Amino acid sequence: MKVKIWGCRGSIPVPGPTTVKYGGNTSCYIVQLDDPQLPTFILDSGTGIREAGFSLLGQAKGKPLDLVLLFSHTHWDHINGFPFFVPIYIPGNKLQLYGPFSFASAEKSFKEIMDLQMSHDYFPVRADDLASTITYNDLKEKDNKLNFGEVVVKFFYVNHTVQCLGYRIEHGGKSMVYTGDHEPYFNYMRLDPGFDPEKLSDEEKEQFEEINFIVDQRNKQVAEFCRGADLLIIDSQYVPQKDFPNGYQTYETKLNWGHSCVTDSLDLAMNANVGKVVLTHHEPLHTDEQIDYVLEYSKNYVADKGGSVDVHMAVEKQEFEL
Ligand SMILES: [Zn+2]
Ligand SMILES: [Zn+2]
Repeated sequence: MKVKIWGCRGSIPVPGPTTVKYGGNTSCYIVQLDDPQLPTFILDSGTGIREAGFSLLGQAKGKPLDLVLLFSHTHWDHINGFPFFVPIYIPGNKLQLYGPFSFASAEKSFKEIMDLQMSHDYFPVRADDLASTITYNDLKEKDNKLNFGEVVVKFFYVNHTVQCLGYRIEHGGKSMVYTGDHEPYFNYMRLDPGFDPEKLSDEEKEQFEEINFIVDQRNKQVAEFCRGADLLIIDSQYVPQKDFPNGYQTYETKLNWGHSCVTDSLDLAMNANVGKVVLTHHEPLHTDEQIDYVLEYSKNYVADKGGSVDVHMAVEKQEFEL
């Protein structure tokens, strides 16, 4: 199993002299398996997918492409490279798209949400005019598994500001997990700065405990899906305030924005016993130099806790062979 990073920036593309090393393109990862009969898997279609498209066409040498696109969710930074993905314009290419059924916009299907960015108000070509063969599939958690030949794709809800899916791809005894955007479940009742669980009314206490239970269950579920994975690619946009100087984007100032703090990602990776963790969805304001420092901090964090997980920062064009 080969996993290649084509975009690892969070929220918005940030090309420029301070983002050359880690890259400025938004989320896109490609998973390819040793058997050429199996489809190529693409996790999210942020702006990184544009260049990935040229690479895939080069590899195919004129043969039609068989692609499975797995979308974590439809926030811009995870879909807006799609109209610039050249394989969608070429007859004979087959694309199977999978994305979460969204309760936030239950009146719209995954296809309708995807098609919106290719309506004439936003883009010159409409989704219905694309020459490749594209199918759209809404995923609901209760199904939670897809099979493509010998490849098993499991999916699970992570915690984000909308329904967001994480994916686990398994083949030939190897496995990789991608979380999409993820903030470990947080009990919103704690957000009040004067919060004291002792001062809650009986009714509030009951509600607080109920939320804690759900939080706990969801965290356990995410850890279960990550358990023993050879590679975990995980949203780690923010850093803990107490350990970083001014100029870094801290989790404490971004509670409920839907992204993880790097220490939560590292704890999850250690608890779930994963082999390699790749920290990603880099904060757009963080420079290469700052991300270098977050990597050094992360390695020390794991060493101090006696962990054995191999820690990496996602770098555009980096490839992992599992
Ligand atoms: Zn995102
Ligand atoms: Zn998002």
